[in-house]
Amino acid sequence: MSAYAVPAPPVPTVPVEGSDAAFPVRRILCVGRNYAAHRREMGGDDRDPPFFFAKPADAVVPPGGDVAYPSVTANLHHEMELVVAIGKGGANIPVAQALDHIFGYAAGVDMTRRDIQNAAKDKGQPWDASKGFDQSAPISAIRTGVAAPPQGRITLSVNGQVKQDAVVADMIWSVPEIVAEASKLWALAPGDLIYTGTPEGVGPLVRGDTVTGEIEGVGALSFRVI
Ligand code: MN
Repeated sequence: MSAYAVPAPPVPTVPVEGSDAAFPVRRILCVGRNYAAHRREMGGDDRDPPFFFAKPADAVVPPGGDVAYPSVTANLHHEMELVVAIGKGGANIPVAQALDHIFGYAAGVDMTRRDIQNAAKDKGQPWDASKGFDQSAPISAIRTGVAAPPQGRITLSVNGQVKQDAVVADMIWSVPEIVAEASKLWALAPGDLIYTGTPEGVGPLVRGDTVTGEIEGVGALSFRVI
């Protein structure tokens, strides 16, 4: 092949702390219902296991970017989440080896068109339009050299008011379990990001809001909804 028939899309990237080399994003996987208190606030059944959905790679919003309020929603929600960046691929990865596949961690927000999601749930339709829209995955720089999966405080504030305040240790599936479970469904590869689920306290955003999020030992992000 000598040329592309249309302009080739750029590779979405996320900066890496302390490095000039950026992390190229291949896929974005997300875990649903991975904190019991959030599962309850969404009306879920405590007995159901967490599950996966996906966003397109170009949904990432690197640090410093604003987020445009998306079309066709009147109920845009924030979901603050620990993000795992995969550095080494594999399928059917055992839990005990999962950490060997992790390049680093970031703080991210799984932006959600809650009204479209609720309508999709009611009708048994796919979630894609509620989760995988443009600029739906703001993220911090990726931190490397984190020996053990972060367990500490995870917080999100809107205009300085704390909305989500929990601890990562409360996740139902741990980080190694998430990597192992994901690798049963897809062959993971370098460049994959996994948003690991949000704790309780999700809520609406409007144009003009400033969102700040932080995860202990991982980093922080901040963006404006415009
Ligand atoms: Mn989420």
